[in-house]
Amino acid sequence: MVLGAIILGLKYLFTRPYTRLVPEKERPFKTETTRGKHVLYMDKCTGCTMCQRVCPADAIQMVRVEGDWKRNKKKIFPRIDLHRCTFCAMCVEVCPTGALAMTDITGWELTTEDKEKTIYMPYELSEPEPPYRITVSKNEWLPPPPFYSKKKLIEKTSNK
Ligand code: SF4
Ligand code: SF4
Repeated sequence: MVLGAIILGLKYLFTRPYTRLVPEKERPFKTETTRGKHVLYMDKCTGCTMCQRVCPADAIQMVRVEGDWKRNKKKIFPRIDLHRCTFCAMCVEVCPTGALAMTDITGWELTTEDKEKTIYMPYELSEPEPPYRITVSKNEWLPPPPFYSKKKLIEKTSNK
């Protein structure tokens, strides 16, 4: 046992450190379903406030945005405080018009020392900094966890 520990120690002594230089040398690791900063399609938003009401972290406030919004007579849109957000995606799920989606913009890309900068106004959410990809949207909800494949889920449900 002692010998094993010594061998392991020696092995790591001559192994290069596993340090990834993000973002200088590498892009951060992201999965197909990484849940990050939201996108708001303002032309789809009706100002129904469902997203605000469902948010468990109280991260959404409705704010007025002047303009000619055909679907949003009250001219109110969600602004999101990502400092409070838990990235649960409930706002995306509940939105009746598909006006909200989530991207893979997360981690160091959202890091800031200024807490005020974690609050994103509607127009800041409507134009995220590229590159990004949509990972969660109304039409493409999160797939089941890998250990519950679709087939297994059907089997599980039909066995009840
Ligand atoms: S992802 Fe969840 S916590 Fe974040 S704003 Fe939406 S509902 Fe709130
Ligand atoms: S984003 Fe969706 S849920 Fe939120 S106010 Fe707009 S339409 Fe309603």
